[in-house]
Amino acid sequence: AIGCLLAVVVLCGIAALILAVVDVKNVDLPPGTKYGMVFDAGSSHTTLYIYQWPADKENGTGIVSQVEACSVQGPGISSYADDPAKAGASLQPCLDKAMMIIPAARQRETPTYLGATAGMRLLREKNSTKAGQIFAEVSKTIQQYPVDFRGARILTGNEEGSFGWITINYLLETLIKFSFAGEWIRPQATEVVGAMDLGGASTQITFQPSGIIKDNSTEVLFRLYGTNYSVYTHSYLCYGQDQALKMLLAALRKDLTSQQISHPCYPLGYQENITTAALYDSPCVPAPAGHNPSQTLTVTGTGAPAECRSAVQKLFNFTACGANRTCGFNGVYQPPVHGQFFAFSGFYYTFHFLNLSSGQPLNAINATIWDFCTRAWKELEASFPQEERKGRLHNYCPAAFYILTLLWEGYKFDTQTWSNIHFRQQAANTDIGWALGYVLNLTNMIPAEALEQVKGQQA
Ligand code: AMP
Repeated sequence: AIGCLLAVVVLCGIAALILAVVDVKNVDLPPGTKYGMVFDAGSSHTTLYIYQWPADKENGTGIVSQVEACSVQGPGISSYADDPAKAGASLQPCLDKAMMIIPAARQRETPTYLGATAGMRLLREKNSTKAGQIFAEVSKTIQQYPVDFRGARILTGNEEGSFGWITINYLLETLIKFSFAGEWIRPQATEVVGAMDLGGASTQITFQPSGIIKDNSTEVLFRLYGTNYSVYTHSYLCYGQDQALKMLLAALRKDLTSQQISHPCYPLGYQENITTAALYDSPCVPAPAGHNPSQTLTVTGTGAPAECRSAVQKLFNFTACGANRTCGFNGVYQPPVHGQFFAFSGFYYTFHFLNLSSGQPLNAINATIWDFCTRAWKELEASFPQEERKGRLHNYCPAAFYILTLLWEGYKFDTQTWSNIHFRQQAANTDIGWALGYVLNLTNMIPAEALEQVKGQQA
């Protein structure tokens, strides 16, 4: 009898223990939140994006949200070519911040990537050893943190455009949507939107054309949530804003023996000095034969919009396309623009600054830019002291004319299609850029069959 009693007690104990374990499991291990991090290492600066999503809902859309965009102090990583260790060190404050945001228990499973774009593409072209040293240093720094570091690499221009397109369509839920009936459905009435990204060293245009794409090198095929997409993408290296404005300055240097440059896009009264070494420091701006690398040039603004526009137009080769309408510029194939477009990064910054990002008609845009470009430097400095301190104020006039020319004559938006362009920095509280699309793809958050072609490309 005692044996029986003992057996019952032991069984009851085991049962209680099992219940307790089940209970503990329910209480202590809820589905939880997962995190992912991407360093967007652009030519002019680096941003660390931290994303989060519910662990039990990885295959939906609109599930991933941005928790933080930490702006790395200092220039882009490609600027540290002569002191690569500093590129690594520059990332530390944002990584420290990330460790405060992501709970300790989730850090080791947090996939972390660094993607570099056109600044590093240009440095690799100029000096691949130095580019390699920078990647070694940034990787070493990230590896010092308890995260799942999955590598640092250069994205191809096609990837940069494609992931930007995926980001915006994911955020707008044009690919799939959660229906009232509680299912993921492909929205019937909604069309995917195009993406236009103006970086510092390259610019990308990506959209689904109405007809077929006749040049394979500009086509990306996606299968997203069971639907096939044939998307046109092209990245113009050197046509990012900073490189384009540098090409403009070099082109305005007419007389190589003179140390003076007259700049029609800079405000009247503005003056700056630039060394020839700084002007000719990238493959986009080749130094003229026999130039003196230690010369200092004085650039003087003349505030002349008509001359500015014509100087900007000369940066583009429109004749290489001939009479062919299915062409962008510099002889690059491009089908006619189709559908709605989101224009972000550099497009947004300049248009937002000029109060032109709320769907103004083209004549109002022209008038505003023209007016801004005739304002004297003294007056501008007084009106926008903060922008002046950031050293950006003198660039808004040339940047605005550059954007107008790129969109109108380069990509061939017209009076009909202009209103389809939306100048935005964010959608669904998340920054628009390639970073989110990149993390969605690499963490397989878009189901397996997606992005085969993009995955297969080499940097
Ligand atoms: P990014 O998006 O950092 O690649 O920058 C794209 C272009 O916009 C570069 O030419 C930058 O110099 C410029 N830019 C970056 N941030 C700002 C800002 N806050 N205001 C104005 N221009 C910016």
